[in-house]
Amino acid sequence: MIELLQRKRSLSLTLYFLAFALFFPACSSTVGYREKSKLSPKAKNIIFMVPDGMGLSNVTAARVFKDGHNGDPLYLETLTSIGYQQTHSANSTITDSAAAASAWASGEKFRNGEISCHDEDQDGKCEPAPVPTILELAKEKGKATGLVATSTITHATPAPFAAHVHTRRCENEIARQYIQVTEVEVILGGGETRFTSTEGEADVCGTFGNFIADAIEKGYEVVYTKNTMTNAVSKGAQRILGLFSPAGKTPEFFRVDPEQVYPADEPTLSEMTAAALEILEKDVDGFFLVVEGSQIDWANHHHNFFHQICETLAFDEAVKVVLDWINQEPTRKLSTLVIIAPDHETGGFSISGPKGELAQPGDFVEEAWISGKHTGNDVLIWSEGPGSHRLASPLDNTDIFSIMKDVLR
Ligand SMILES: [Zn+2]
Repeated sequence: MIELLQRKRSLSLTLYFLAFALFFPACSSTVGYREKSKLSPKAKNIIFMVPDGMGLSNVTAARVFKDGHNGDPLYLETLTSIGYQQTHSANSTITDSAAAASAWASGEKFRNGEISCHDEDQDGKCEPAPVPTILELAKEKGKATGLVATSTITHATPAPFAAHVHTRRCENEIARQYIQVTEVEVILGGGETRFTSTEGEADVCGTFGNFIADAIEKGYEVVYTKNTMTNAVSKGAQRILGLFSPAGKTPEFFRVDPEQVYPADEPTLSEMTAAALEILEKDVDGFFLVVEGSQIDWANHHHNFFHQICETLAFDEAVKVVLDWINQEPTRKLSTLVIIAPDHETGGFSISGPKGELAQPGDFVEEAWISGKHTGNDVLIWSEGPGSHRLASPLDNTDIFSIMKDVLR
């Protein structure tokens, strides 16, 4: 009886594998695909762009507002490869920005709050010792590096690329590492207070100090306004630290809300991105640049739909700056991988109307939300350039690190 059962089982297994091979012939070429991907073209430059907390519905709402239902796509939608990624962290179905960006930066799963640093025993030390991040690997190859964001530049999304610390709350320590340890060439965003603090303003790591003075000593042009940024770039600065607000930058919707005032001397994300490219492109070895539209996430946390639309469109304008830069010269197009990847979705934003009519350009679609927090939804990956075909798949967020590492020449 047992023998019969065993034979039946082995027969059904054989049938199962036969059926599998018949119906899924592509599986037999898996090994071939892996070998092929080793031969994938190499990129001299990688531009990694993060619309923080952006789900696909955010894209739809912004597109409808800008161009209507049958209008043009957003710039980010014109990229040729599309895939998607799982976002869970090492200890949570719902990731935070720190763990998600650490996964991209270091290729491993981290616990929420960790900045490219495992601290399982919670003693504040990184154990085991951290692996080099993709930005640090780019530096090892002689490339220039940059971080651009509309939050404090020491916030949880840019930080894991250029710092290792057990918690995202150590923003002074992150600032210190950017300047004293990693020496990121281009640092543009908000958060001046994180770069200059007294003992009474120490972060939870106990770090404080004047890292702006250190930056000047290390040859950085330190700027606080759009004009001084532009001047520093045209004078040929090779290192720049631009801190345009005490904490996060002024929200984008302040430009259009008549009740608000947007400081005239504060650069936009697009202007910071253009400045970063102008500096970084001078490095003959190439560059690695992170650009974050940080406040799409904040808008979604607060269910502030107008803020969301303005931040999404402002991020998309920065995408246009990048695409225009790439398309200016055929060699840039051949040698630059651009990736646009949200770290997670925030708010569970959905479009619930209008029903029975089409929203027109300038109209807001009707909004619905499921949460004031992050969600565990998978998020998209748009990409173009050498190696981008490998990102047009269902991936884990850690896979993006491996692909960037393979592709970076
Ligand atoms: Zn985030």
